[in-house]
Amino acid sequence: MKHVLGLRCLICGAKYAPSEIDYVCPRHGNDGIVDVVYDYGMIGRQVRASGIPGVGTGGGIWRYRALLPVKADSPAPPLLVGDTPLYPAPRLAAELGLRELWVKDDGRQPSASFKDRASAVAVVKAQEKGAALIATASTGNAAAALACICASVGQPNVIFVPASAPPAKIAQLLVFGSTVLLVDGTYDDAFELCLEACQAFGWYNRNTGYNPYMTEGKKTVVYELCQQLGSRYSIEWGVPDVVVVPVGDGCIIGGVHKGFKDLLALGWIERIPRIVGVQSAGSDYLWQAWSHGEDVLSKPPIVAQTVADSISAGLPRDRIKALAAVQETGGAFVRVPDDQILAAIPTLARGVGVFAEPAAAAAYAGLDQAAKDGVVSAGDRVVVLATGNGLKDIRAAMQVAGTPHHIQPSLAEVRRVLNL
Ligand SMILES: *Cc1c(COP(=O)(O)O)cnc(C)c1O
Ligand SMILES: [Zn+2]
Repeated sequence: MKHVLGLRCLICGAKYAPSEIDYVCPRHGNDGIVDVVYDYGMIGRQVRASGIPGVGTGGGIWRYRALLPVKADSPAPPLLVGDTPLYPAPRLAAELGLRELWVKDDGRQPSASFKDRASAVAVVKAQEKGAALIATASTGNAAAALACICASVGQPNVIFVPASAPPAKIAQLLVFGSTVLLVDGTYDDAFELCLEACQAFGWYNRNTGYNPYMTEGKKTVVYELCQQLGSRYSIEWGVPDVVVVPVGDGCIIGGVHKGFKDLLALGWIERIPRIVGVQSAGSDYLWQAWSHGEDVLSKPPIVAQTVADSISAGLPRDRIKALAAVQETGGAFVRVPDDQILAAIPTLARGVGVFAEPAAAAAYAGLDQAAKDGVVSAGDRVVVLATGNGLKDIRAAMQVAGTPHHIQPSLAEVRRVLNL
């Protein structure tokens, strides 16, 4: 990993070699989030902006290996992670009064959520270390992603999820053969327990906002969307004006920021778009901190309660990176209530053909709110990240999907219910 200069603590600035620490800066307990620092000069000499094949040419996120914190010869898991479609959504753009709207559909990943990008990197890092076992805490999707990618390489793993996780996500864990611990408590309880267990038993820990490499896997979405927009605009790497991201722990939004910072440092793009984070009104820690100017190192956890389980986080673990993503790009946080999140599921499905789980639909609901609040405006080209597939949470979707016509098997019945 000669292209990685080290790991830098986001609180005290201390620098570590990757061999020195696996997770956080030891001076701040479990809060000492570190950032992976690259030698962009070296990377820029090794690869050119035009030298990375485009999305859909195979290889998924590993096409960007020169920008990932893994060894050059570490084997990549066999599943295709990344390379998700970016769909134009002209009807929704017209509805919201935007110049362009694009939906990046990460529901198309192997385990049907964005989290595969991070879990794929976790599995490679764990195998580089020769770890016997990988563990994670998750609201559901990070675990399903880890379970899926571990299964593809036969890697044993232990999962801590809150007992309230949607049944489809728990089914994924079991089907992939993970050891599943359903914790009677919140995601935050599961997170702490997983930390303790990893420390006690020496397991490799994938926890979001603790393992510094998760952001790095997640940033690949930006490389993809810039290449995809570039091919639409007939340039190499295209940049939108705004990217809208659903936010729980804040790792995805931090990864999005990192992806743009990488490309800017390499000189492959000329500006970074505004990053808009969307939180549920029932889990709005970061929105609160951002709008009231609170210090996220001293702000206590809140009680999180939302239908969008994947963005339910009382204490967002990647809060330092999340806040920086919004503040340093001139973006914003917006918050949306659960009924607007649910209503966005059919809106997105009918407007562009993408069926999203509640947390992913929250991004669209947040964009709608941002358009009303003037956070985005008519000249903007906007990308929304659809982070998880709607089949993950049928119970939520059925609350807003409508009801079918129930009929007897006769043409007369078809006439009757359709008024023909
Ligand atoms: C995890 C997740 C998010 C939020 O990501 P964070 O890194 O926790 O902010 C959003 N949508 C879906 C579908 C997710 O699984
Ligand atoms: Zn530190």
